Amino acid sequence: MSRPQQITVLGATGSIGLSTLDVIARHPARYQVFALSGFTRLSELLALCVRHSPRFAVVPEAGAARRLQDDLLAAGLSTRVLVGEEGLCQVASDPEVDAVMAAIVGAAGLRPTLAAVEAGKKILLANKEALVMSGALFMQAVRKSGSVLLPIDSEHNAIFQCMPLDFSRGLSNVGVRRILLTASGGPFRQTPLAELAHVSPEQACAHPNWSMGRKISVDSASMMNKGLELIEACWLFDAKPSQVEVVIHPQSVIHSLVDYIDGSVLAQLGNPDMRTPIANALAWPERIDSGVAPLDLFAIARLDFQTPDEERFPCLRLARQAAEASNSAPAMLNAANEVAVTAFLDGRVRYPEIASIIEEVLNLEAVVAVDDLEAVFIADAKARQLAGQWLSRHGR
Ligand code: NDP
Ligand code: MG
Repeated sequence: MSRPQQITVLGATGSIGLSTLDVIARHPARYQVFALSGFTRLSELLALCVRHSPRFAVVPEAGAARRLQDDLLAAGLSTRVLVGEEGLCQVASDPEVDAVMAAIVGAAGLRPTLAAVEAGKKILLANKEALVMSGALFMQAVRKSGSVLLPIDSEHNAIFQCMPLDFSRGLSNVGVRRILLTASGGPFRQTPLAELAHVSPEQACAHPNWSMGRKISVDSASMMNKGLELIEACWLFDAKPSQVEVVIHPQSVIHSLVDYIDGSVLAQLGNPDMRTPIANALAWPERIDSGVAPLDLFAIARLDFQTPDEERFPCLRLARQAAEASNSAPAMLNAANEVAVTAFLDGRVRYPEIASIIEEVLNLEAVVAVDDLEAVFIADAKARQLAGQWLSRHGR
């Protein structure tokens, strides 16, 4: 048998990182952990290193690196600790690495993910913000390096599974009419609008169907997550925003659908557990056990569908506008959202103000072309500055 594939897991201490390591551990003959990264949860990172014996571990700064290196030596491990973005880019692009799980949350994941793309790695893309920020440049880099880009987001993984193999020829050339992106509607789907000003971060993070990191949980509650996913789908599948329709499906059993011109609609179903898309992408085009229980259709009994209400979910409208405007707009949308969600999680802004902050940032700054990564980071920084001004003006 050939040697096990070497896998780097960026964001190993997070929800996707842990699910990835769970799938990898089920298949020791196929996969070996090459590198793991953490950011704040460094005792968890140490425990993961003890469990998976990676060649490298990456932490944000030198002091933490020294402490982890000492602990690893004391545990009898030869794992080498690297530091910061440079360390992340190194383990993402090392010649020995076969695949990189990009599971850092937010803009912080962009440079390491691009480093993996440029090195021609197989990319398992969970970090949707990286693609949203830099869409055209990211996809150009994928084409240039010949990197295989596999979506981990459950919806995009579902769409990927329902698309014909040659979908890169363009949707209209392969008979696809539109993509139907399903959304659970999150914890506030039925909350009276007047109560939304008083919901807490804990309520926002209590997703009815999925267990996820805090930032994406808030994004799911506001449906900014679906907005980011709409932009993500446009880049992954070369679709226009008008070809992607969002459908609320509260059970989260159908993970998305592809509607063909002959009237066929293909869907992918499964229990809401990220180990399914992770296993699908890790083994693609083969199939492996993910540890996910088989779907019990009789227990589910019914599947419901609704149109999203943009008054309840203004972030979805803002994201669609940014998708239409393209250029710097998605990077601005993403950065303003990151600032607003952090402030909400810290208790500094109320839930409806997340959308107010993003809308103000998008209205204040003109959309410009982004021809290189520097322009992306300029748009990102400008949006963070404008969102920061909103917070200071409101005394937060
Ligand atoms: P978590 O918050 O659980 O994990 C985030 C990971 O990123 C952690 O390992 C964290 O380290 C690390 N991290 C955070 N900030 C930084 C930084 N500035 N620099 C380097 N590393 C950092 O998030 P999730 O696992 O839920 O989500 C990860 C990505 O996957 C997101 O982009 C999300 O949108 C996407 N995704 C997640 C899904 C899910 O079900 N969870 C579903 C679909 C997509 P530490 O914990 O040590 O601080
Ligand atoms: Mg998703």
